[in-house]
Amino acid sequence: MGTGRLTIDLDALAANWRSLDAKTATNVQTAAVIKADGYGLGADRVARTLAAAGARRFFVAVAEEGAKVREALGPGPEISVFGGHMAGDAQMIADLGLIPMLNSVDQLTRHFEALPNHPFGIQLDSGMNRLGMEPAEWAAVRDIALAAQPRLIMSHLACSDEPGHDMNPQQLQAFIEMTAETGVPLSLAATGGILLGPDYHFDLTRPGIGLYGARPFEDAQLVVYLDIPVIQVRDLVAGETVGYGNSWTADGRRRIATVAGGYADGITRHLSNTGVFFHGDVPCPIVGRVSMDLIGVDITHLEDTPEALTLLGPHQTVDDIADTTGTIGYEILTELGHRYARSYHRGQS
Ligand SMILES: *Cc1c(COP(=O)(O)O)cnc(C)c1O
Repeated sequence: MGTGRLTIDLDALAANWRSLDAKTATNVQTAAVIKADGYGLGADRVARTLAAAGARRFFVAVAEEGAKVREALGPGPEISVFGGHMAGDAQMIADLGLIPMLNSVDQLTRHFEALPNHPFGIQLDSGMNRLGMEPAEWAAVRDIALAAQPRLIMSHLACSDEPGHDMNPQQLQAFIEMTAETGVPLSLAATGGILLGPDYHFDLTRPGIGLYGARPFEDAQLVVYLDIPVIQVRDLVAGETVGYGNSWTADGRRRIATVAGGYADGITRHLSNTGVFFHGDVPCPIVGRVSMDLIGVDITHLEDTPEALTLLGPHQTVDDIADTTGTIGYEILTELGHRYARSYHRGQS
């Protein structure tokens, strides 16, 4: 096989949903956020697995993503759209039974005009200044909105991955004030918010990243494995270089494997001369620049010649790669390439 192999452990995914669900009281519902194609892992498989595990409510970023999830799940489960009701979406929202989280007076007006009896939710801005109605805007339409019985009122935390951050209690307070005496189910917490404790749970939580096995859910089970095949191996002597720009020079006899993956597969160039692959438990450094489709790896210290090397697995998670390259696990996950042969497993691969 010429392409990398991405293995997704669906049992681990389901187990992560159950563990996050278990962190909240029994009267708190646990939804699942599967935007960006299930954080890059395949929204259809992710949705079906989590529905089988017990999830009844799903969130996506935009209506188009909701269409794919509806196709995977069929009628029944609730699919809500963080981006709300955008111009041109009415037909899709109606036909597929999507629930837009209305983010502004404009969206509220659009929704009430186009689909007067269709369910909706409200997203409030409690301080992040990204999506949702601001307090004054909300005050202006609150009575009209509540009369139409929203399914949910939600907001989102900016700093929930930092438990000690002042922004968390500030946003909590703002959310409580804006939602007092609405009588509508409330939601504030994503993965980070669940871990902040019961004050943040309200009626519904919306975990995303924790399901996929990454921080801030430190106790998560590993979901993603990525192995890249070795195409060719060569022996270098001192002074020879590897890859574009001659950025790495052998300081002695070296055995270099060329693996079949690169930045076009989401393996960022920032790993050039700094990242590692693994052969079993043994780290093997990336040498030279990461190319579009190829990477040089130093395997001098290995006794055998591996058929493939592991980029993501028990010794290196998306968070480890993110730490090496100055980003977050979310970005590593959602950049995973489209060329990989994907296999979905039940139980550890
Ligand atoms: C992405 C997102 C989530 C899920 O966040 P995680 O940190 O991945 O758990 C929840 N709510 C909103 C509004 C989001 O945009």
